Amino acid sequence: MDIISSISTSIDIVKKLRELDRKVGEADFKMLLADLTSELGDAKLNAANLKVELAETKERAAALERDAARRVSAEPEVHEGAYVFGGIARHYCTGCYDQGGKKILLNELTGHWTAFGKWQCPVCEKTLGPSTL
Ligand SMILES: [Zn+2]
Repeated sequence: MDIISSISTSIDIVKKLRELDRKVGEADFKMLLADLTSELGDAKLNAANLKVELAETKERAAALERDAARRVSAEPEVHEGAYVFGGIARHYCTGCYDQGGKKILLNELTGHWTAFGKWQCPVCEKTLGPSTL
């Protein structure tokens, strides 16, 4: 039973208690009061569980954020003559990064241009990577 249904059941019981006719016996009143106490107890317990779950979720989110920040700031690795960051399959110009710290995404060479390498930088026009020659 979740907290929302505990609370709505509690509200229903309060409504019944309000609608109780004076003729209704004390036994009915006591029974509804016992139900109300039980429902509120469940709601309290569920609220406590939710608090724990929220704390755990926040902790997981913080850990994921730390991982993401580490990936972004990671030192580049060389792959096929170009730089890749955090193991993500995007290739960047080594020259532009080494000289100015700029991450320039490389264009992949096609056709007979592959004789010069696998990639070309759109900024410094350097070709990188293994050639087909
Ligand atoms: Zn470049």
